[in-house]
Formats: sequence, structure tokens, C-alpha cells
Amino acid sequence: MQAGTTIFEHMSGLARQHDAINLGQGFPDFGWPESVLAVGAEAIVHGNNQYPSMWGLPELREAVMYFYERRQGMTLDPNQDVVVITSGATEALAASIMAVAGPGDEVILFAPAYDAYAPLVRRAGARPVWVALQPPDWQASGEAIAAAITPATRAIILNTPHNPTGAIASPAMIAAIIDLARQHDLVIISDEVWEEVLTGGAPHVSPFGMAADRTIKIGSAGKLLALTGWKVGWVLTDAALAVRVAKVHQYLTFTTPPPLQVAVAAGLALPDAWYDAGRARFTGARDRLAAALTAGGWELLPTQGSYFLMADLAASGITMGDHTFCEAAVARADDGVAAIPLSAFQPDGAETRFIRLCFAKSDAVLDEGARRLNLARARLAGG
Ligand code: PMP
Ligand code: GLN
Repeated sequence: MQAGTTIFEHMSGLARQHDAINLGQGFPDFGWPESVLAVGAEAIVHGNNQYPSMWGLPELREAVMYFYERRQGMTLDPNQDVVVITSGATEALAASIMAVAGPGDEVILFAPAYDAYAPLVRRAGARPVWVALQPPDWQASGEAIAAAITPATRAIILNTPHNPTGAIASPAMIAAIIDLARQHDLVIISDEVWEEVLTGGAPHVSPFGMAADRTIKIGSAGKLLALTGWKVGWVLTDAALAVRVAKVHQYLTFTTPPPLQVAVAAGLALPDAWYDAGRARFTGARDRLAAALTAGGWELLPTQGSYFLMADLAASGITMGDHTFCEAAVARADDGVAAIPLSAFQPDGAETRFIRLCFAKSDAVLDEGARRLNLARARLAGG
């Protein structure tokens, strides 16, 4: 694939080069709270800009706990349930994986998987073991997960809502993961960065609520507040596991900029109405893009969360693979459009028949993106 860069950088670079509409990399062009930007600016100018505690600012750690009590109905005990603030969910993932797995160990990943998981597992010296999620609803059965477990297995990485597919793990899949983790003494690393971006009406379910003693729940302010460049994340986990994660974190990044932590604490305290309005707006954007593409002959998969929608090339009459399609669709003088091929999230990288589209865009961008995708479909169908 592209030497040295992620698929997101690669496609965003091509989108800039061809002046294309960018429905590739997952970032919104609306939806963040202006009041939180003002808190951040004030904190930079008048607040503390020196190293905070490596655990994170107490006010943010408390805000994270209160947020989950309020929004996800959790009952948390500050002596037992501990938050560590990290530099984005990416660092939380790296620290969690390195805390629980090393050379000779195995970590179960679901395919397709967010692009960082397998490289981070390998960097830790461990081996990714794959379990396929099955379209169209992208679930894995308890039997399939059990078959992947060996005496070397240390952890299972769950991602719900799921990037790239927009699926959420069913209660049955979550229950199976918890049962197996208990039987085999595994840690569940639960990447829940999309927990608030729910577009299907189903509630968010975290394994932390049922297995707090062995779950590392990962969150990201980038997603909760639609400020993806801020890179403020966290883990919420059991006190003993938190110490293990913190020991890695202290040599990965050590701390996260305190003015941003102050601002994120203010963001987490925004009223339910703000979060619910964001959900409604993202759902509206998803529906707008879906309606325009369906009218243009595209077959789409159902989604429940995240900024992403999957389109099925083969069912839409396009026989070429996802990577080939994405390269062709973006490289146009006047009507280029960037998408992400699902193959970038697959263990073998082999071409698939699915592309991922980011719908977290203003109406004008969505409408023009859909127009261009419909043109691309008409041009490339049968090709
Ligand atoms: N996990 C998933 C599933 C994601 O989609 C993303 C970002 N899109 C991340 C982790 C990284 O989050 P952050 O920017 O907070 O590092
Ligand atoms: N997580 C974002 C996405 O899925 C992009 C992150 C990145 O560019 N590495 O699109």
C-alpha cells in the first residue's frame, strides 16, 4: 500500500491534490461546542501550562466518571474505578496493549479492525489473532471467538460502535466476550470512542458495566466533542489495571496538555441536550447522504454509530475492488471524491467490495459528494 502513511493520510493527500470532496478521513466540519473552545483559549492564556500529574487533571478525571454515570447509567466507585488521561485514544490503546501483552502473547482482533490495532499489538511484541466479523451486521459468534483463544491469549480488543463499519456489537456478542474473558482470564480492551455518535436508536453498551474488573474502557474527547485534533483521551478501568496502564503511559507521553484537559472537562459537563442535539444532527447527515446515494443506485449497509457509512460496490453494480475504485474516484479533474477502501482495515489488505464514507459534513459537502459518487458509480459500474 502507500509507503509509510496511513490510508487516511494517503486519501486526504489525494483529495487535496485533486481538489476532491473528502468523504475519506473521519473528521467533522461541524458539531463542536464554541463555548469549549473559549474555555480552552482562556486556560492557555490564564491557566496552568506546566506539566500536570501523569494521571491527568483531577477535574477532568472526575468529569469523565461523572459523564459515564450520567450518560451510561454506570455506578462508579472512585476507589475501585480509575481514570487515566492519555494523549488521545490512540495512546490509550498503545498503553493498554503494552500493559497486558508482550512477546509470545496473542491478542484477539476483530476484522475489519481500526488500522492502529494490529501494528500496536506487533509493536508490543505480541501476535494479532483475527476473528472475522460477518456482514451485513458485522458480528462474531461466541464459537468463532472461542476458537481463536489459546493459552497465549491475553486480551480481546472490542470496538463498539465500530470503525469502519458503523455497526454496534450486539448484547449477545458482548456477553460472549465477557464469558470467554472470565473463563480464560483475559482483559477486554474496549475502544468506545464512538459511544456518543449513535445514529440507530440503540443504546451504547459497554462491557465495563458488566466486567469492570477486567475491562479497559477507552474514550476520546476528539469524538465526544467533535474536535478530532485535540487528542485528549482516557482509560477507565479497575484500579489494579489502571496502575499497569499508567506505568506504560508515563514513558509514552507522560502527560497531556493541561489547557485542553480543562476545556474537555467543561465539554463533558455540557447538558444532555447538547449531546442529544449532536446525535440528531449526525443522524440527519447520515440520512441525507444515504438518501442521495440510494437515489443514485448505491446499495448501502445499515449503520448504528460512528461518522461512517458503508457502500457495497458489487451490489451497486461495480465489479472492481475497493482500492481500485477509491483511487479512480478521487483522481478526477472536476468531480473527484475521496472514500476509504475497507481493505485497509483487513488483515491481508486484499481488495473487498466495500468502501467507507464519512458523513460528518455540512449539507453542501454531502450533496456534492453524493453527486460525484453517483457519477462515479454510473461511470464505473460494470467496469
Ligand atoms: N479508535 C477508533 C475506533 C477510532 O475511530 C479513532 C479515531 N478515528 C481512534 C481510536 C483514535 O482516537 P484519537 O484521535 O482520540 O487518538
Ligand atoms: N480515525 C480517523 C478515521 O478513521 C482517522 C485517524 C487518522 O487519520 N489516523 O478516519
